Amino acid sequence: MARSSNLAQETASILQHLGVDRRLYQEGIRTVRSPTTGGTIANVQDADAVAMGNVIDNAVHAFKTWRLVPAPRRGELVRLLGEELRAAKDELGRLVMIEAGKIASEGRGEVQEMIDICDFAVGLSRQLYGLTIASERLAHRMMEQWHPLGPIGVITTFNFPVAVWAWNAALAVVCGDTVIWKPSEKTPLTALAVQALVARAVEKFGDAPHGLSAVLIGDRDAATRLTDDPRVPLVSATGSTRMGRTVGPHLAQRFARAILELGGNNAAVVCPSANLELALRAIAFAAIGTAGQRCTTLRRLFVHRHVYAALVERLKQVYATARVGNPLEDDSVLIGPLIDEAAFAAMQATLSEVHALGGKITGGDRCYAERYPTAYYVQPALIEMAEQIGPVMRETFAPLLYVMPYTDFDQVIELHNGVSQGLASSIFSNDVREVEYFLSAAGSDCGIVNVNIGPSGAEIGGAFGGEKETGGGREAGSDAWKNYMRRVTSTINFGSELPLAQGVRFDIG
Ligand code: NAD
Repeated sequence: MARSSNLAQETASILQHLGVDRRLYQEGIRTVRSPTTGGTIANVQDADAVAMGNVIDNAVHAFKTWRLVPAPRRGELVRLLGEELRAAKDELGRLVMIEAGKIASEGRGEVQEMIDICDFAVGLSRQLYGLTIASERLAHRMMEQWHPLGPIGVITTFNFPVAVWAWNAALAVVCGDTVIWKPSEKTPLTALAVQALVARAVEKFGDAPHGLSAVLIGDRDAATRLTDDPRVPLVSATGSTRMGRTVGPHLAQRFARAILELGGNNAAVVCPSANLELALRAIAFAAIGTAGQRCTTLRRLFVHRHVYAALVERLKQVYATARVGNPLEDDSVLIGPLIDEAAFAAMQATLSEVHALGGKITGGDRCYAERYPTAYYVQPALIEMAEQIGPVMRETFAPLLYVMPYTDFDQVIELHNGVSQGLASSIFSNDVREVEYFLSAAGSDCGIVNVNIGPSGAEIGGAFGGEKETGGGREAGSDAWKNYMRRVTSTINFGSELPLAQGVRFDIG
């Protein structure tokens, strides 16, 4: 598509083409900026209390109809959405680039991930199986059914502005739920665009109830409305651990279900037998891809002393040559901007701490400050640390990679697991004993444990999520769909006696 020099105009033209009502992105008071230039690209309106109430009322009402639609027919709506996404892939991918600052292949890749989960959910719509269970009683049968749960709240982050919604929504819709989406206040436009595509799919579908899918624009107040409404039985919240600490107790207080997908502090171990060229490529993508702004970004790298010098030297070359810049203007860019000034300030504060602790920093400087005074481009930083201390223990959402040497395998597993987050991890090794140990119950304590690939870039087929302060939630593939349904256990007596379980007798004469 033509590259407009005026980003606001280009944004408006994409939104218009995708069918978003102009008033939704031109008449509000919340400013939306592109991290690529720092410039304003739109103005959206936060939902007020009345609008929030209406959205939840409509979702509750729509659920009463949608839960009765046969699941394979519900799958047809998701199939139609997948088609809309295929048709809009380039434009929506471009909007992700503009609004979140991703490079082109990652912008399109994010839309591909939405398409993939739609395909998965369509198949799933014919596989929402329950078990038949042997009963201990004569002429009895036990079974499980899975029923729709209700209106589902989905709170999402800026860094995967559309895919995370799709992981939740595609499953929830085939499971018979309705969906209310509170996107990040930093990326509301992609949410409005996706909602317009949902509207197109709904129109083609024909008889989906009004309110089946809705977007609530706003900040944490809008999110709190979802977490506190007793009619919303499940909230899937993706974001920082700080956010999870607020959202989790709100949901627990009213016994609602939570899928918490929170911060990571992901590590990789490079063993002496590793293929170093392969490891180098994997580390580069995982550590500096998406400008270090993935929950699965590689942040801690433990390298065996025998291969430490060779690998670190190669990494430094990669860090010095990987192209930083505006992905909207230059297709060869690998590292786009940080999301905003606060992210830049957090990175600089962490670098100061690291410096004070004696860490050896390569990179980390701001780039293009004159050209883009309100956009924040940085050189990724490679930090050699002698020990896992201070900021290494926490997630700074920026391209900072701490590299540490190790000697003893058991000790490195302890260090690997010695942080409070538990999302994604990798081992690079060709020694089957090390690999199997890492994968075993005594190995990595993360939700994602990879071998000879980096910790980031998951496929939708597996369940996604992590342990400890990462929140424990699971989304996307495998049997994550069970989170979006309620399980019913039924016992059916097809005899004429009434035997009680465990041999209990209760003769009423
Ligand atoms: P954030 O926590 O600032 O915001 C995420 C969402 O939560 C936004 O919609 C925001 O409005 C809302 N929110 C924030 N504080 C809230 C509160 N107190 N109550 C209710 N809602 C609140 O996160 P971010 O900066 O947008 O995203 C980066 C973080 O997200 C990183 O920590 C990253 O690791 C994490 N993340 C995790 C996953 C995962 O699957 N585990 C995926 C992507 C991002």
